[in-house]
Amino acid sequence: GVASATATAEPKIALRGVSRLFGKSAAVDNVSLEIEDGEFFVLLGPSGCGKSTLLRMIAGLQPVSSGVIEIDGRAAQDMEADERDLAFVFQNYALYPHMSVRRNMSFPLLMRRFRWWHHIPVVGWIVRRRLMRSPEIADVIDRIAETLGLTEMLDRLPATLSGGQRQRVALGRAMVREPLAFLMDEPLSNLDAKLRAQTRSELIRFHRLLKTTIVYVTHDQVEAMTMGDKIGVMKDGVLQQVGTPRAVYENPANTFVAQFIGTPAMNMLPAVATGAGVWRVAGQDVAVDTTAAGSAHLSTEIATDFLLGVRSEWVEIVEPTQNCQFQGQVAAVEDWGAEQLVRIHLDAGPASDADAQTVLDVDAHALDVRVPSHRLVKIGQQVGVRVDLERTRRFDPVTGDALI
Ligand code: ATP
Repeated sequence: GVASATATAEPKIALRGVSRLFGKSAAVDNVSLEIEDGEFFVLLGPSGCGKSTLLRMIAGLQPVSSGVIEIDGRAAQDMEADERDLAFVFQNYALYPHMSVRRNMSFPLLMRRFRWWHHIPVVGWIVRRRLMRSPEIADVIDRIAETLGLTEMLDRLPATLSGGQRQRVALGRAMVREPLAFLMDEPLSNLDAKLRAQTRSELIRFHRLLKTTIVYVTHDQVEAMTMGDKIGVMKDGVLQQVGTPRAVYENPANTFVAQFIGTPAMNMLPAVATGAGVWRVAGQDVAVDTTAAGSAHLSTEIATDFLLGVRSEWVEIVEPTQNCQFQGQVAAVEDWGAEQLVRIHLDAGPASDADAQTVLDVDAHALDVRVPSHRLVKIGQQVGVRVDLERTRRFDPVTGDALI
């Protein structure tokens, strides 16, 4: 429903085959992507995957080696950075130390409308000061300060604020401009855990309120999952998958996405389809009903060798005597508070030549399971393991691509 409603609208930012080369190596490799108007789009990937470079190309702070970027339907290569009407919020937010919060926040408005004044030393200063107090500008600043909880701090200097408050001022300064889109590069990475969580909800609220387009770069999958309308996952300069948080979590395009997103990473069990409706997983034979509704993706004709992707919450620990697919032993227990992470070492069945080979470095018998903390689980305990096979995903053991 949502997809078809927005499909006809023109994307706010479109990338078509965009690359950026440094010498011979591509920091960004042939990325095509559309970001809709009003979307909170998160670019997610490990350090060095090229996400900052991609954002800086959109901002116009870095040249594009090949490909086209369109902003609001216009080819961006014809526009200088300041013509693109994008607000950039960096990881290291730079505030003017000698200016009050109010002046820091009004600065872009003053600079934008009265560009030529600030070249005249004293006159420029007086005019800017008056403009800043003008109802027109003061109203905007007051409204945004209110949104960000900065009202009491408007007359203070940045040095008297905490890191989190300074970050909010930097956000506020970006917000006064009502730009076409916000580009944010790890804006929360300098905050401690509590402030990061707070500012995260602040950003979500801000986005709901203003419905502006945000392109947000992070290596933190929790930020991506909680804030993004859509997530683009990158690795080695290549866009691996674009989708809603739910889609990339439940239906990852490959083993990289499956294991980068989610804590713990998606379990990968080497498996072989040995006959119609029979899989050998971690050396144990498992009956699979491939005829049930919603099970078409489990059809055994698709592949013989594969990796079975299992999210930790698709697994249930039961008594060894109960109906289940696997038997195993508790190898480790990690207390997470409300839950415990239990690692189970699956019992091997009779060894067989048919056991799958994979290039991935996986422990063929380890399975991580999340269990409520009131459940008593002891290391060494023998357990039965029940896997919700309908939800599992399968991956090519050599390329890592999802088998659909
Ligand atoms: P991080 O989260 O660590 O900032 P990132 O995903 O944002 O990483 P980029 O900063 O975009 O990654 O860098 C992508 C790749 O391009 C890296 O391998 C980096 O070393 C390389 N790179 C970036 N800028 C330059 C440059 N000016 N000259 C040469 N190589 C560069």
